Amino acid sequence: MVSAEKLNLLGLSRAKLKALFTEHGEKPFRADQVMKWIHQRGITDIDAMTDISKNLRELLKEHSEIRLPKIIEDFASTDGSHKWIIEVESGSKVEMVFIPESGRGTLCVSSQAGCTLDCTFCATGKQGFNSNLTAAEIVGQLWWANKHLGGYDDKLERPVSNVVMMGMGEPLLNFDNVMDAVDIMKDDCAFGLSKRKVTISTSGVVPAIDKMKDYTDASLAVSLHAPNDELRSQLMPINKKYPIAELLRSVKDYMASLSDKRVPVIEYTLIKGVNDHRQHARDLAKLLESLPCKINLIPFNPFSLSDYEVPSGSSVSNFRQILQKAGYTVTVRTTRADDIGAACGQLVGDVADQTQRSDRHKKRAESKSGKVFDKTDNLAVMADRV
Ligand code: SAH
Ligand code: SF4
Repeated sequence: MVSAEKLNLLGLSRAKLKALFTEHGEKPFRADQVMKWIHQRGITDIDAMTDISKNLRELLKEHSEIRLPKIIEDFASTDGSHKWIIEVESGSKVEMVFIPESGRGTLCVSSQAGCTLDCTFCATGKQGFNSNLTAAEIVGQLWWANKHLGGYDDKLERPVSNVVMMGMGEPLLNFDNVMDAVDIMKDDCAFGLSKRKVTISTSGVVPAIDKMKDYTDASLAVSLHAPNDELRSQLMPINKKYPIAELLRSVKDYMASLSDKRVPVIEYTLIKGVNDHRQHARDLAKLLESLPCKINLIPFNPFSLSDYEVPSGSSVSNFRQILQKAGYTVTVRTTRADDIGAACGQLVGDVADQTQRSDRHKKRAESKSGKVFDKTDNLAVMADRV
């Protein structure tokens, strides 16, 4: 039985591990060794760390351990995707999804159980907020994906080449833990992912985007979903606090702070009759004129607590064409992992709803659909977009 009080080495960045060793009179390079054991070799037993003296191992065991989040369910799709339901220490369940594509494997991780922000089109928002994930619980998702996909079995290539923070929650409202987790994902003594291949997706928490440049150089995706403040505020309440002009200013500043040339991904969920008109596309093209970026169009993924509808194929292609003619690189997300999504959505529908949002939305949706609420549909498609 593990004790929740012990320090969890899984979530410690190299800087924090080094500080810990130095504090105990040990050489800082011990941090490199421990990180390699945990993240590169998949070792969770301190006694198995054979290049560390017995005395030091005893000291480590006394104060610390390697504690992983629990995998509750594991689903494999016929299209090669995987989805896992994990239980975190708060008792909440969150999801992560792995999507293999030619030449890369993308893992979509969760950063919070639920979300405070209540975007009208998002199933996570409807659940309210339960807890922030710890750095260990965020990194633990990557550790588990590696383990399950054979990444610790002496393979030269790791199955996960890209990580996107597009699962449950708003990563920038769990800032410190997300920054530590991103650090570990990029660290050469841990997962060694390129800064270009770790993407933080945000709904636009401007002060946190402003702060990010002092903490990370990870890639950025921004959920815009509307070309003007009036519509964006209807879809995303956070826009009332941080309107579009401020958001775009902070995104530009962040991109300018990076040492290489990179552009943000602008995410735009297309909802039938709401934000998918040709004029919206023209306005979007104009709005983003001064921000070099890629645009990712995401046809709305329906769920029973929402009245919104999926856009028609022709409105998606019209929207895309208008943006492409204006010179943008545009991708349209295709749905993956439908089969496993449909099988298990209820398992993660238990995040405590402290806001009564679910009831409110359910009443509205009841007349429209007999379907069971399914967060999974939502998450499985999110991973597939950067
Ligand atoms: N909180 C962050 C990251 C998690 S959401 C953010 O908002 O960016 C990841 C992406 O999925 C966001 O772009 C979000 O707008 C989108 N999304 C949420 N619900 C969706 C739905 N029902 N259909 C399509 N995209 C959705
Ligand atoms: Fe939260 Fe992102 Fe969902 Fe909005 S879209 S409610 S920010 S998880």
